[in-house]
Amino acid sequence: MRAVVWKGPHSVEVQDVKEPQIQEDTDAILKLTSTAICGSDLHMYEGRTSAKPGTVFGHENLGVIEEVGKDVKTFKAGDRVVVPFNISCGFCFNCTRGYTSACLVTNPEMASAAYGYADMGPYKGGQAEYVRVPYADFNCLALPGTPGDSFEDDFICLADIFPTGYYGTDLAQVGPGDTVAIFGAGPVGLMSVISSSLRGASEIYVVDKVPERLSKAAELGAIPIDFSKGDPVEQIFSHRSQSKVGGQKLRPGSEKMPGVDCAIDAVGYEAIDRSDLSRQNPSQVLQDISRVTNPTGRVGIVGVYLAQDPGGVNDEAKQGNFTFPLGKMFSNGLSIGMGQAPVKRYNSYLRDLIVANKAHPGTIISHHLPLDAAPEAYADFGKRGDGYTKIILKPQAA
Ligand SMILES: [Zn+2]
Ligand SMILES: [Zn+2]
Repeated sequence: MRAVVWKGPHSVEVQDVKEPQIQEDTDAILKLTSTAICGSDLHMYEGRTSAKPGTVFGHENLGVIEEVGKDVKTFKAGDRVVVPFNISCGFCFNCTRGYTSACLVTNPEMASAAYGYADMGPYKGGQAEYVRVPYADFNCLALPGTPGDSFEDDFICLADIFPTGYYGTDLAQVGPGDTVAIFGAGPVGLMSVISSSLRGASEIYVVDKVPERLSKAAELGAIPIDFSKGDPVEQIFSHRSQSKVGGQKLRPGSEKMPGVDCAIDAVGYEAIDRSDLSRQNPSQVLQDISRVTNPTGRVGIVGVYLAQDPGGVNDEAKQGNFTFPLGKMFSNGLSIGMGQAPVKRYNSYLRDLIVANKAHPGTIISHHLPLDAAPEAYADFGKRGDGYTKIILKPQAA
């Protein structure tokens, strides 16, 4: 079968590789109908992780079950499913408590496993014609309809970006009436916009500098803030001071709360340095969040920070050590949550919102390309602009 194989920094190739087989009686083999390129794939693509050449990429996988092992009870060949990017067992101490992002069984090296990702275990990715799904009963999410129907683009978002964007709003405890600042209008940031709306936020700000991404955020109901046009925190303060809610000073003491109740980092360690847009500053977003979040506010960090970054801006960053204003965050009493989303905790509810016509995450998808176009797709998506908000590869396309 054909699969997207990483050769080294800025180089992927579509190669013929061995088809996956059932290895355990609890496995399923999935025939992919849609498989997405993720912003976190770009970190590997660019050589900014400990990924080994030869890795088959792809952790956002939707398709139809081709074959199941003899112990799989709830799924059969022909069923349409999407699988969380986290691979989890369903029975370990963390899985049973809903922390499927920290499964203790599926990765011999650490508490976390995923398809086709650096350090995330021995699993091949799904940017391929087929992928092996371990513990299929637990990992597969049943879907209605048939491949290629009007839900195809919405359902692929259930593998990662929709639950991850939602998780950001859960960590930041976004609730009715809250004001929210989301850093990053990539796919996950846009999913946090949709999720903040679903949870009843009154004002949603989105900080980015790519015009297409900002206009997508505006389309979804957010207020776009372009950080290439000045300090985004000052822009949000200024907007809030004139907004219907913030401008009327309806809350006693509101002059000491010029920012937002909730902030979400959907950027991570490859953040652009605002003082020099040609450089990176891995703590730029955390610095901005420490200023824009009101005292007693809540922060969700879902943008990726890695412990090993060969391309880090300095020796500390190469080891995952970042400097950010913890003192200010402490004195403001901020609550901070972070990490990989436990997709399984959310995906059945988010699927039901899609099926009930109350959420349309697939509207952010900009490109559908055959698997063979992966080398160009990675190069183009890697520029993080030019209209490429989200790319879906179609492995079954001729
Ligand atoms: Zn992803
Ligand atoms: Zn587990």
